[in-house]
Amino acid sequence: MDREYGEPLAIGDRPVQAPRARPPTARPLSEWTSRPRILVTNDDGIESRGLLSLAQALQPLGEVYVVAPETNQSAVGRQKTFMRPLRVRERTLADGSTGWSVDGSPTDAVSLAFLGYFEVGFDLVASGINYGANLGDDVTYSGTVSAAMEAVINDCPAFAISQEYYEHPDFTLAGRVAHLAAVNILEHGLAPGELININVPAIAADECEGIEVTRMGKRIYQDELIERLDPRGIPYYWIGGPPPSGVAEEGTDFAAVVNGRIAITPIQLDLTARRLLTRLRSWPWALPARPTPPAAVVETPTEAAVDEAVTAQAEPTAERR
Ligand code: MN
Repeated sequence: MDREYGEPLAIGDRPVQAPRARPPTARPLSEWTSRPRILVTNDDGIESRGLLSLAQALQPLGEVYVVAPETNQSAVGRQKTFMRPLRVRERTLADGSTGWSVDGSPTDAVSLAFLGYFEVGFDLVASGINYGANLGDDVTYSGTVSAAMEAVINDCPAFAISQEYYEHPDFTLAGRVAHLAAVNILEHGLAPGELININVPAIAADECEGIEVTRMGKRIYQDELIERLDPRGIPYYWIGGPPPSGVAEEGTDFAAVVNGRIAITPIQLDLTARRLLTRLRSWPWALPARPTPPAAVVETPTEAAVDEAVTAQAEPTAERR
């Protein structure tokens, strides 16, 4: 069978059952009794060099499984496929190793793994290395971060790693950071609902100004609606414009990356706005008393209406049984 373009792998007509995450096992790597099992994914697609770089960076740490969308799924966010089936294909990656592609979103890829496709549980999920930073508000669009979120939903620690975009990125520095982050998470663990978002500046390793633990910054989007005409003269649209900028406030992921530092940002799935929670509780939330309905107006039927009703009762049709 052609492994690249052959039949999708059959997994049998059965609900797939398997362990989701392995029980949390955070402890020094020297004390692990078996090699950590690491799921590597992305949103740029199975053929991305960033994905391969991430897998290669983590291979020395454990048993790496690569599963990723078949095509580029950047900015699909938390999209999950429910209305059509998913096809999975075994693939040979550029270094000869094996990976699996899914014709769905990054969330689908991770979901598949945690719902038992590989019939094993995982200790860590790593998503990336994304072509382009995912800073501040970007995480709400990011397929890269969404994939890591899907791991967290399944009680497995995870991190996302992205690199500022330039034409032919060198992922050496990002690979080293990914390795370091993986070791840290495996040794120290993350609490339920937590994940780490990493952004690497587009600079050579020896120009890097170090690593900073940051908070999410504020993005400034410069999107423009570009209207063009198709060959039949019908307008179509692109969301285009220059890449987003941001508010370079000290302590934020954006400021770190702008200043040549790697940003490590802790994020969580609990989106509750704590300050607003307190304020909302001081607002009046008592439902107003139900308004009294207006008295029903009884209309006296006209003679014609009465005749019509009588006729209808006297002549039942086949449909009105
Ligand atoms: Mn992407």
